[in-house]
Amino acid sequence: MRNIVAGNWKSNKLLNEAQEFTDPFLSALNELTGETEVVIAPPAPYLATLAKEGAYRFSWAAQQCSAHGFGAFTGEFTAEMLRSTGVQSVLIGHSERREHFGETDEVVRAKVEQALAARLRVFLCCGETLEQRESGRPEDIVCAQLEHATTGLTDAEGLVVAYEPIWAIGTGRTATADQAQSMHAAIRGWWAERFGPDAAANLPILYGGSCKPSNAAELFSQPDVNGGLIGGASLKVDDFLDLVRIADGLQNG
Ligand code: PEP
Repeated sequence: MRNIVAGNWKSNKLLNEAQEFTDPFLSALNELTGETEVVIAPPAPYLATLAKEGAYRFSWAAQQCSAHGFGAFTGEFTAEMLRSTGVQSVLIGHSERREHFGETDEVVRAKVEQALAARLRVFLCCGETLEQRESGRPEDIVCAQLEHATTGLTDAEGLVVAYEPIWAIGTGRTATADQAQSMHAAIRGWWAERFGPDAAANLPILYGGSCKPSNAAELFSQPDVNGGLIGGASLKVDDFLDLVRIADGLQNG
């Protein structure tokens, strides 16, 4: 399976800054020869402009989409609209959406359905709080989130899982490679029961949470870690390229 390195810019950068990143980044990416798939999720207002720019093994994602289809939903943008701009994927269920914008498991589920119906690939985000980790069974919390988000789906086509322990997002505190591996193995095990062993073997599971060039090699080299969802370190061309190079090196090695 190819590694994936995906950047989540969150609410950062003005349009001109996004373009100033994109040009050198995509040129440099075109010079690399690796196989890692590279994705960036910029702020939604820039997608239609940025999605005109592309590179080998690169695509654009949105950071979320509406839980609804077309209609009287002022301010919302649908998965179909995203698709029509050239976007290929969408992050759903990011912990910041769950915490600050009231995204319940039901809303996450509805968004997954909208996105898949629009043929967008879904980066399904899951993760536990520090309190939940310390309570002893973080795997149960994370697998319950996956269970809600995939309710009613008959297959796992178009899904990528991003495991992002909430206590590690933007805090500088990263999960250890062992903690990441053990959660990723639990997710793959749950996926095998839910969707079958082939779907589980082919499921990309990304790690997210203060991942940066200095810790990525150890995390990405774990057997069940298939790359990363990167916040802060995706904002700088050099750091993000370094992460791609690290994933490329592990893939080829
Ligand atoms: C994220 O929010 O998806 C994330 C992983 O952020 P950071 O890398 O900044 O912790």
